[in-house]
Amino acid sequence: MTTCPHCHSPKIVKNGKSYHSKQNYKCRHCRRQAVEREPERLFSRDELLRGLLLERLSLRAIARLLKVSVGWLVPRVKALWQGAAERLPQGRLEETEVGLLCVEADEQWGFVGAKDCPVWLWLAMERRTGLVVGFHLGERDTEGAMGLWLSIPQKLREKALVFTDGLEAYGAVFAKGQHQPEGKRETTKMERLNNTLRQRCARLVRKTLSFSRSWENHRLAIRYFLYSYNLEKLAKMPSLL
Ligand SMILES: [Zn+2]
Repeated sequence: MTTCPHCHSPKIVKNGKSYHSKQNYKCRHCRRQAVEREPERLFSRDELLRGLLLERLSLRAIARLLKVSVGWLVPRVKALWQGAAERLPQGRLEETEVGLLCVEADEQWGFVGAKDCPVWLWLAMERRTGLVVGFHLGERDTEGAMGLWLSIPQKLREKALVFTDGLEAYGAVFAKGQHQPEGKRETTKMERLNNTLRQRCARLVRKTLSFSRSWENHRLAIRYFLYSYNLEKLAKMPSLL
């Protein structure tokens, strides 16, 4: 700091540290105090794009915000989506000593292309950590339930006790001892994820955008979101990393 931010006098002196250990200054002219401001943080365009893709924004809105064309944006968005691996990050969950993992399963619909083309998003979440352990896009039938089951890593499947809403398809897939249909489930975490997806991924289920017309992009965008969702969760649970 070279001048007083209040009166712009250059007669400032150091005056101890602030509560947050920042250098404090006092102006000899107006006698007011000031703390040096953090330098403004600059985001790279890619860094910004990674964050914007996790919000409820259309591709066109993102293009406008970044002042780029949709044509420039699309290949970069696809590259970011494809950079999220098929296997969602689980940290060290698979190595847990816990003998039984409570997994909540649920399914919600969305659309690809047209209104008469519903796609079900099947989700499985580990209850204790809130991590998404599996997801599948498909029909709301036995095949869909099987797809979800197989998307969960083998080591977690072996220890899983799955809580569901009792949809028939689950019963056909899960072994009796591993399934709690209409069990008194604590659904707060799964409901929050469902809401988060509806709130922040709404554009995925809209049919107006060219890039959400294809099944592949729908899947990639959802995978990207779930991947980032787990990374955010894991960052708050260092013991799992
Ligand atoms: Zn001053």
